[in-house]
Amino acid sequence: MSKWNKRTTLVHGGTRRSQYGEVSEAIFLTQGFVYDSAEAAEARFKDLGDDEFIYARYGNPTVRMFENRLSEIVGYEDGFACTSGMAAVTGALTALLKAGDQVVASRALFGSCLYVLEDVLARFGVQVTLVDGTDNAAWDAAITDDTALVFLEGISNPTLEVVDLEHVVKVAHAHDALVVVDDAMATPIFSCSARLGADLCVISTTKHVDGQGRMLGGMICGSKDLIRGPIEAYMKHTGGAMNPFTAWMQLKALDTLDLRVRAQAESALKIAETLEGHSKLAGVRYPQLPSHPQHAVAMRQAEAGGTVIAFDVKGGKEACFKLLNALELFTISNNFADSKSIVTHPATTTHQRLPQDQKDLIGIGDGTVRLSVGLEHADDLIADLTQALDQI
Ligand SMILES: *Cc1c(COP(=O)(O)O)cnc(C)c1O
Repeated sequence: MSKWNKRTTLVHGGTRRSQYGEVSEAIFLTQGFVYDSAEAAEARFKDLGDDEFIYARYGNPTVRMFENRLSEIVGYEDGFACTSGMAAVTGALTALLKAGDQVVASRALFGSCLYVLEDVLARFGVQVTLVDGTDNAAWDAAITDDTALVFLEGISNPTLEVVDLEHVVKVAHAHDALVVVDDAMATPIFSCSARLGADLCVISTTKHVDGQGRMLGGMICGSKDLIRGPIEAYMKHTGGAMNPFTAWMQLKALDTLDLRVRAQAESALKIAETLEGHSKLAGVRYPQLPSHPQHAVAMRQAEAGGTVIAFDVKGGKEACFKLLNALELFTISNNFADSKSIVTHPATTTHQRLPQDQKDLIGIGDGTVRLSVGLEHADDLIADLTQALDQI
């Protein structure tokens, strides 16, 4: 692992310079690579060196820089960059599972992850058990010697449930099950997956890494054995590799990742503290607030609560829509982690199709609002929220 601090690694980690000695990381927009001789081609196919490439679906120098730098930040030996966060989630799961396997997962999952587990994997004979991720006893009961893999979001979207990862990893490993954590919400800066022993961490780089709403991307991080073993084998043959242009854009975005995420998290805390107790709200959810049900676990796992806040507006959907329409700085969208602050009403958008009983189970009500805090000045965001709440 790096001798540098995270912020230095974000600027310099994994750099590969060509013979031209360029300062800025080069973009190798190439599908293929040429060989000096037929013998050299044969040798490269036989035994591919760390700094050798044969086809962009298998690997590319720009993509490899991004893989090396981001995985190092998250605390893993290696990474495989994918076309999107969902390509990373699907790749990690399908590369490791086979018919007859049992998966235990937390119930409060991103909609597409739930689809992959319940619809796709189920069709291939994988049995999935969903549990309340905040209940350690539920994990203890569900994980058995038949469990092949455990999947969870460290911090869930949009209800900000926090899983006691140390406990889940201990139980899973006692039963020889692999642990895969989706750290889209946790952010690569505050992720505790590597430190607490998760085998793989999947990251939607669409979120904080890009951070400016431009391009989709994802990465699977883990040990060299897993990444250059079953993960690479599956990804390179099934076609989910990230393209070099995206890798270059997101590699450059890493320069500022630590600065951006810390500034956004600092504003999120200020906003959560200001909103808590507001007369128009029934409650505010943010891991760093002492009122958060898993506050102690969250603060043991990360130094900050992340960039997303959820709260419940009194008066349900009608009051929420009034609030959304009255906001001037917060834009109505369904993405998060952008430098522009975003407001979402999950019940009518991202989670519209989730049956009511499942919404109830994970705490998405008609009055639930999700805020993604951007890079604007916190005072301006607070002023915007205050004037909009006054209009309800
Ligand atoms: C956004 C998100 C994904 C999917 O990422 P994409 O890059 O949009 O494919 C997966 N998991 C979680 C928790 C997310 O928030």
